[in-house]
Amino acid sequence: MKNEYLKKLMATVEKRNPGEPEFHQAVMEVLETLEPVVEKHPEYIKSGVLEMIVEPERVIKFRVPWVNDDGEVVVNRGYRVQFNSAIGPYKGGLRFHPSVYEGIIKFLGFEQIFKNSLTTLPIGGGKGGSDFDPKGKSDGEVMRFCQSFMTELCRHIGADTDVPAGDIGVGGREIGYMFGQYKRIRNEFTGVLTGKGLTYGGSLARKEATGYGLCYYTEEMLKANGKSFKGTTVVISGSGNVAIYACEKATQLGGKVVTVSDSNGYVYDPDGIDLNAVKEIKEVKRGRIKDYLNYRPGAKYVEGGVVWEVKCDIALPCATQNEINETSAKLLAENGCYAVAEGANMPSTPEAINVYFANKMLYGPAKAANAGGVATSALEMSQNSMRYSWTFEEVDAKLQGIMKDIFKQCDDASKEYGMAGNYMAGANIAGFLKVANSMLAYGVC
Ligand code: NDP
Repeated sequence: MKNEYLKKLMATVEKRNPGEPEFHQAVMEVLETLEPVVEKHPEYIKSGVLEMIVEPERVIKFRVPWVNDDGEVVVNRGYRVQFNSAIGPYKGGLRFHPSVYEGIIKFLGFEQIFKNSLTTLPIGGGKGGSDFDPKGKSDGEVMRFCQSFMTELCRHIGADTDVPAGDIGVGGREIGYMFGQYKRIRNEFTGVLTGKGLTYGGSLARKEATGYGLCYYTEEMLKANGKSFKGTTVVISGSGNVAIYACEKATQLGGKVVTVSDSNGYVYDPDGIDLNAVKEIKEVKRGRIKDYLNYRPGAKYVEGGVVWEVKCDIALPCATQNEINETSAKLLAENGCYAVAEGANMPSTPEAINVYFANKMLYGPAKAANAGGVATSALEMSQNSMRYSWTFEEVDAKLQGIMKDIFKQCDDASKEYGMAGNYMAGANIAGFLKVANSMLAYGVC
């Protein structure tokens, strides 16, 4: 970064938010790509918009006490970061994972501002979660935790204020328990959470949306560069919500997905992943990915391995942040991978991204490529407001239109600012401009 103003701002962010490397990483990436924008438009500096945008409007941190099956009291920590409401109510998922702390939620909330702006829908940026680990817990324990979490959170959210959704460790079961508790305490049935069950206000195609949207975005990016999914070999990491539906859509578009993983290891199936097996293991039995061998004995399970060592044309990281480091990115490049598109949030380290650019690989950044989930959440909010439901085909068609539009915004902005083909810069710039112009209209606030 060369711009003195941005360098100073970055130093302030680091000083003000000590011990939060993921947040620093997310802010650095955005500020670096905004250099040509602030040079062309000094009004963003003069108005203080940049100082305001890196500071959350509100950070809520609270105690979550609950009782486990042995009758013991357990205390977790809950968070909601309401980062920016310039273009709509705060919107972003809740993550339940032992690694959660304030820095993770801030990085995710910051990214969410620009992602939500790219969807073209009226939603601000927020994120929340807890260091609670749902893995290995009984349904009763998960329910008691979710009810305690919502007992506090319900004071801070609302259909026109802040609308959380799922993320790692938060799927349909958890959303159900939280929505039930919200409804009970607030005595209102409103669209305060998205990702709800279909019998109580959920949207068709929301479950599929992030994975499907990722593939729609990737297909657009490939098309713009004379390629497509057809006949390609695809590696996917993770085996949760995003990974499963990315696998389904990539296969429908003509790719062969050969890997899925979880935090213990990965499976390699040269004949193409049997998605029904993965769905049964993960969505029904809540088991481990190594159980895949019970369904397909010919597949290989690599304990502790990373999928990036498998030869592929296209890589879709769909597990967690910083899962592709420089070494993994080099492996991908050496093995002939020519496109990486991110289903997970910030799955590539800055060094990995440098490797993609150095090797002229196509790179679809998370903010743009995985925005289909939150976009469909916003469509769920619209349906809740109208007390109406669209069909699966209607929602899916809107999702496809949105993902095409997001790619176009990234492409256009990258060209306008002299960085054609750098969709990361394009996403950051296009996402920033809409929010920043709204903030300019509000003055200092
Ligand atoms: P899930 O909880 O459904 O699945 C997460 C998957 O990633 C699991 O396979 C999990 O394995 C693996 N994983 C999680 N943490 C780690 C880790 N530290 N190391 C290795 N593997 C890990 O979550 P989602 O599919 O919903 O989310 C995946 C990613 O996509 C996240 O980055 C999330 O922020 C992002 N995302 C999700 C959206 C959504 O709509 N759900 C929307 C946009 C982005 P294990 O079970 O062993 O932990």
